[in-house]
Amino acid sequence: MPTQRTNLLGLSKSKMEAFLQTLGERPFRAIQLMKWIHQQGVTDFDQMSNISKELRAKLKECAEVRPPLIKDCFAAKDGCFKWIVEVESGSSVETVFIPEAGRGTLCISSQAGCSLDCSFCATGKQGFNSDLTCSEIIGQLWLVNQAFNTFGTKTPRKVTNVVMMGMGEPLMNFENVMDAVSLMMEDNCYGLSKRRVTISTSGVVPKIYEMQNYTDASIALSLHAPNDKLRTEIVPINKKYPISELLESVNAYLESLGDSRVAIIEYILISGVNDHRQHARELAELLRHTPCKINLIPFNPFDGSGYKRSSDSAISNFRKILQNEGYVVTVRTTRGDEIGAACGQLVGQVDDMTRRSARYLALREQSASVQPLKVE
Ligand code: SAH
Ligand code: SF4
Repeated sequence: MPTQRTNLLGLSKSKMEAFLQTLGERPFRAIQLMKWIHQQGVTDFDQMSNISKELRAKLKECAEVRPPLIKDCFAAKDGCFKWIVEVESGSSVETVFIPEAGRGTLCISSQAGCSLDCSFCATGKQGFNSDLTCSEIIGQLWLVNQAFNTFGTKTPRKVTNVVMMGMGEPLMNFENVMDAVSLMMEDNCYGLSKRRVTISTSGVVPKIYEMQNYTDASIALSLHAPNDKLRTEIVPINKKYPISELLESVNAYLESLGDSRVAIIEYILISGVNDHRQHARELAELLRHTPCKINLIPFNPFDGSGYKRSSDSAISNFRKILQNEGYVVTVRTTRGDEIGAACGQLVGQVDDMTRRSARYLALREQSASVQPLKVE
């Protein structure tokens, strides 16, 4: 029976060095291999010309460079792309490229589905299938770079920023995400700066503390509500880790960075749920001691969610209140809507292990007529 080959695509620098040592090789070879794999996109050991024939032969026996498979790719008129990527568990996840003036942001998935069940999130409604391996996470960046190379040079595209805001909760798949993020920031791989790689979390407090030991990437916090009562209703993990503990952990992380970085506070605006003026005032008070910028995200509807996006005037009022309190506030423009690539619309094709999706579908039928609350 053939033994499982080690997939070198998903090895962090220290893991690559350790792997080479098991083959009796010196650690500096790690950098050579990583450059071939991540910078040149080479998967065939025979093409790695500065690696000795002897080592290549050994690698062919026990290792491979195996990116995940692309099942489909969609292009939106606004320049966004969405790839459907098949992972080993049999599920598929989504990766989205969002071009903006002077930068190109790739939104990467960390899990197939998500176990945290936020009430407004299509991924959460699907239930959870699997954690992505490190090679499946970094593989999304690898695949997109390869795709852009083959698209040609007419409209050159480049990934300059990565946000871990695709499917899944990154901190629930901690080691693989930390390894993948280290590869994104490694000079011999993708060389993205710490300010251009952002980990978005709904608030897994112990893991936010642990991040200090592994990374100095930027942090985004999916807050979405200004008090525990409302947050627990829409972001259930808040029951375990309430807002005060959460903000303390984020402050500690920012302090550990020792630079001028601030957290991005993500706040979805859902009509009649969390978009009242009073919510904005409460939020301004709550964030008084957290260095941050606030990113308001108009809710992206999906079938059967039962929620509506806030009106333009509610969004603008909410923003003004925060700005008057001295906050820097941006409103996320919805991109990639027509190809289902907007925030919270990513669903891939997840074989749900929790059966939540079945319960959800049944519920959706029952509640098809339920209208969201109205706020004057
Ligand atoms: N699990 C992580 C990262 C993935 S979700 C997190 O929750 O932060 C990425 C972002 O999309 C989060 O801010 C999330 O709250 C937001 N999002 C989820 N569903 C959405 C929807 N229907 N409309 C707009 N944004 C949504
Ligand atoms: Fe999971 Fe994030 Fe969606 Fe919540 S918003 S269900 S944490 S992916």
